[in-house]
Amino acid sequence: MRLAVVEDDDGVGEALVEAFTVRGHHATRLRRGADLLTAHRGFDAVVLDLGLPDADGLTVLRQLREVSTVPVIIVTARSDERSIVRGLRGGADDYVVKPPRIAELLARLENVTRRAHPVAAPTERVVVTGDVRVDLEARRVEVAGVPVALTAKEFELVQVLTERPGAAVSRQQLMDRIWGDAFVAVSRSLDVHMTGLRAKLDRPGLITTIRGYGYRWGD
Ligand code: CA
Repeated sequence: MRLAVVEDDDGVGEALVEAFTVRGHHATRLRRGADLLTAHRGFDAVVLDLGLPDADGLTVLRQLREVSTVPVIIVTARSDERSIVRGLRGGADDYVVKPPRIAELLARLENVTRRAHPVAAPTERVVVTGDVRVDLEARRVEVAGVPVALTAKEFELVQVLTERPGAAVSRQQLMDRIWGDAFVAVSRSLDVHMTGLRAKLDRPGLITTIRGYGYRWGD
């Protein structure tokens, strides 16, 4: 398994990484919650401390859950029932109180990872909405039969939006998928590329803004 160990304490973090590594896993130490939010796609499961230097682990978990279903086990010194319930309700798959027993923690990681593999939705290769035709395989977009030249970022926006036509896609999901960074610096870039895309397609109403959330392709 590729494991992220989100832990600011060097002693605990290094011990966990070493214990996972000697058991044949590929463990990576991350010190801050923000590191996990930008790198979560590379991991099969996450071990998450709650007391982190840049944000509370529960906040990090809530942000992560906006864009990812990666299995997360909270490993923390907080052993009171209220914290455990908040962690599980907040989207953790399991909760372990420090100090963790390594074999038990690994068994729990295997457990949550086994349950986690969602079946990927089949992707439509060609999406036709009104007179707009998107060929995802060929990376071509045509409006009224005329090819439209999109930049790489504009095409990626189309790709993500047309995965499920008619469904709402949040700004966080778009930023995470396209820039790998749902929460930090790219909000303005998204606006810029969205404006460019809409201008090129010239079909008002094709991409609807959902205020305070994101966008929807078609209806
Ligand atoms: Ca800590």
